Amino acid sequence: MALDWLDRFHHDSEKDPDYAQKTLAAYRLGMRGKGSILGVVIESTPTCCDAARNLPYGKVYHPDDAPHLPLPNCRQGRHCGCVYRPMMTYQRQEEP
Ligand SMILES: [Zn+2]
Repeated sequence: MALDWLDRFHHDSEKDPDYAQKTLAAYRLGMRGKGSILGVVIESTPTCCDAARNLPYGKVYHPDDAPHLPLPNCRQGRHCGCVYRPMMTYQRQEEP
């Protein structure tokens, strides 16, 4: 599947300088393609910076609106563990 390369990003690996741009562009394409991608979520880790952990948990962003990673006020920069994950339509949780 076309998005497989995205899974090669591990939380502890350094992000490419254009990580946000490339990743969001791929999701944007994916949303157009089969319509199975709802948007992106930002997955942070316990070792992530405060900026990442303070993001609303589980919020689904449109790729155009998603904050760019690494976050501007992140002290770990490209080493920060926060990554984008696709939110697929089949993963959608029922709104209360
Ligand atoms: Zn961070």
